[in-house]
Amino acid sequence: MSSDSDIKTTPRGFHCTLCNVNLPNMPSLDQHVKGRKHQTLSTVRATRKTQEDHSVFVSGIKPDISQTDLSEYFQQFGTVSDVIMDKDKGVYAIVQFGETESIQAALSCVEHQMKGLKLRVKPREKKDFKLIPKKKNDPQNLQQFLDRIKPELCQLVSVDAQMQFVLERFQLGDNEKKARGLLVQLLQEVFVEFFPDSQILPFGSSVNTFGIHSCDLDLFLDLENTKVFQARAKSTTEQAGEGMSDDGRSEDSILSDIDLSTASPAEVLELVATILKRCVPSVHKVHVVSSARLPVVKFHHRELNLQGDITINNKLAVRNTRFLQLCSGMEDRLRPLVYTIRYWAKQKELAGNPSGAGPLLNNYALTLLIIFFLQNCEPPVLPTVDQLKDMACEEEECVIEGWNCTFPSQPIAVPPSKNTQDLCTLLAGFFSFYAKFDFASSVISLREGRALPITDFLSQNKEDEAMQEEQPTKPHHPRTKLGPLNLLDPFELSHNVAGNLNERSQRSLQRECQEAEKYCRSLQYQRKSTKGKSWGLVRLFTPHGDVPHTKTEQLTISIPFKSASLPEGLRNQLHMAGDDFRLPWFQKVCSAVEGVLKTVLKCHLAPSTNAVFGDDSADAAEEMETSSASLKSSANDSFDSVESQNETSPLGAVVVGAKRSLSSGSDASVSPQGKKPRLARRGRPELPQWVCVQKHIVWAGRRKVRRELIKDTDSRPEGSCMELESQVTAYITEKEPELKDPLEFKVQAQMVGGTESTKVVLRLEPSSDQTGVFHDFFHFLEAFLPKMVETLLQKEVASV
Ligand code: ATP
Ligand code: MG
Repeated sequence: MSSDSDIKTTPRGFHCTLCNVNLPNMPSLDQHVKGRKHQTLSTVRATRKTQEDHSVFVSGIKPDISQTDLSEYFQQFGTVSDVIMDKDKGVYAIVQFGETESIQAALSCVEHQMKGLKLRVKPREKKDFKLIPKKKNDPQNLQQFLDRIKPELCQLVSVDAQMQFVLERFQLGDNEKKARGLLVQLLQEVFVEFFPDSQILPFGSSVNTFGIHSCDLDLFLDLENTKVFQARAKSTTEQAGEGMSDDGRSEDSILSDIDLSTASPAEVLELVATILKRCVPSVHKVHVVSSARLPVVKFHHRELNLQGDITINNKLAVRNTRFLQLCSGMEDRLRPLVYTIRYWAKQKELAGNPSGAGPLLNNYALTLLIIFFLQNCEPPVLPTVDQLKDMACEEEECVIEGWNCTFPSQPIAVPPSKNTQDLCTLLAGFFSFYAKFDFASSVISLREGRALPITDFLSQNKEDEAMQEEQPTKPHHPRTKLGPLNLLDPFELSHNVAGNLNERSQRSLQRECQEAEKYCRSLQYQRKSTKGKSWGLVRLFTPHGDVPHTKTEQLTISIPFKSASLPEGLRNQLHMAGDDFRLPWFQKVCSAVEGVLKTVLKCHLAPSTNAVFGDDSADAAEEMETSSASLKSSANDSFDSVESQNETSPLGAVVVGAKRSLSSGSDASVSPQGKKPRLARRGRPELPQWVCVQKHIVWAGRRKVRRELIKDTDSRPEGSCMELESQVTAYITEKEPELKDPLEFKVQAQMVGGTESTKVVLRLEPSSDQTGVFHDFFHFLEAFLPKMVETLLQKEVASV
């Protein structure tokens, strides 16, 4: 079933063309081929092939022809095993025979007449079996759209004109807005019948000035007044006896079925769903999603071909929609920027989670990233949310669920920006801003218009408690969910609106920003092609995956700073270190890397390993003093060096690009005070490194050994337990023969952050690899090392 031709050899291992996956080495290829996905696809392909070989394509039928009619007619050529009609009601059919010979018989018949119809019978087209991935953003449509607008975009004279054009082509038209408005009105009329005094309020892209043709209709059903109505009606009824209320409305209202003051959101939404189904024409596919962060009723409107969402308890969203409207009103350049960046992000598969859930940015989060960038331009294009609050008058004060949501109601209250940059420059600026942004160590705050240091959020519990003591009336808000991208909502300040992103989607965002930044520096971005070639936005919009990455293969493994998965003890230590948190974290990671190599993978570390870490304790102490100064490096320094001492293994550290401008703003240009670190004085600093020797293929067959070792206990994922992984290695080294020529390699650790996401980069290089196994080992380490380091960090802190 599975064929060798599915597997191609690539410079980085293997590629399975059937499943469209890359496999780094033989063991993983083996596992893949035996795995469920590959096996299922192979079976499906084999079944399809059999079907193809046994069937004919029949056209010229009419919708009233049934499967049985066709089956009966074609029996004359052989046993018919199946008839498949096309979904659009009978224009063609596939007739499958039990024997291949029947096909020839059917094809050689000159004329097929059935129930007065002339049927056309053809052999089946032989199609290559291909896995059609479930693509989210319907890239085909996006691509078709780009193909359509390409010639017009290329004709325009500037990037600014192209951005305006994108805005005009995407934005909701007046008629669309009107139709949506009418639907809202209709829903309002229906709901008020069942929920007296309720209000239905649109929010999100339909009304936030960033809507596109197909955007959904987000609605908030405000039942606050209905609750008051119900409570009042209840007390009047109790006083006046059963069945009557003050206005006589509630007696047979739906409200007699539910008590809004005690009902759960899911119960209320079930009722909303029933009303939608029964009372609103053209509405179908109504269902409640109660698992969402905010439970919602989803529906589809047939005539308008519109997806709608109704939530309750969502006042904050209505308010943040007002905020986005205000930003558009204050600054004309915002809308073309948002439409352009949203389209770019869709093309690059960075944004848009089709079912609401998923690891990509949603449009709200993306828009906030754009606003944050504009707050950080020089001079700023948009004010901070705190500044807006101060511009509001007393009547505009607004607090929702304990969060201050005050801002002026009219753009006129906000002084215009002094920034005069054109759209082309701002767009390039956006990419460059996020290309260099240290996502791992920052929390983006639109309220303050700056990135807050992540260390402020690493030990929130105590601060929350302290705050609770100081302001007992303030509602208790949950701890911020930290992740690879931390973007605080401008109002609900404990909510990370990008909390759904995973490492991969954050990395893609930054990588695409880096690519875009590079492109924006080229003439093709800024200048119209005189030869009619693609230029400006057109090339920027090239879909994800279409441009071959020119990256040269580098044998590096990154260990990202994952604030979310740090153990409590380490969180507290780093919290105490404040802006200098990178150094202690780096040291911990280096110790863990050494632990993985030495203890878990049983590599022999050559004596030269520690040579770079300094052998003089006085020197080491001196460098400890200067270490924090060097981390507060000036923006002009391309790197700084730090040395310090680790009790078990003294480690040196190099921090590349540790600028503070983003995380703390104030002292970005402060030069290190006091003594220069020793390594910096000597010129280029040395990096901590290990020279390792591995005598066994400890990376192959680990899964099987692991399974055997934990036979009767719970299965544990790879890299989650140090003792187990060490046992696996010991087992392999005992059972398997030694390599004829041991593998010798060097691992060098470097710390980066400040001008890019904080991480430790390990550079690996073989010094002796006679048996040619280094690449396999490297691919194994790529996945294993970061996971194992995470486990060791947990363990080390737990044992402190
Ligand atoms: P589109 O529907 O075109 O994707 P949108 O702005 O309507 O864009 P939705 O995801 O539908 O985005 O969200 C609707 C509204 O819900 C947003 O405008 C915002 O007010 C609120 N919202 C969405 N996601 C979040 C979030 N992660 N955190 C807080 N509020 C959110
Ligand atoms: Mg929406």
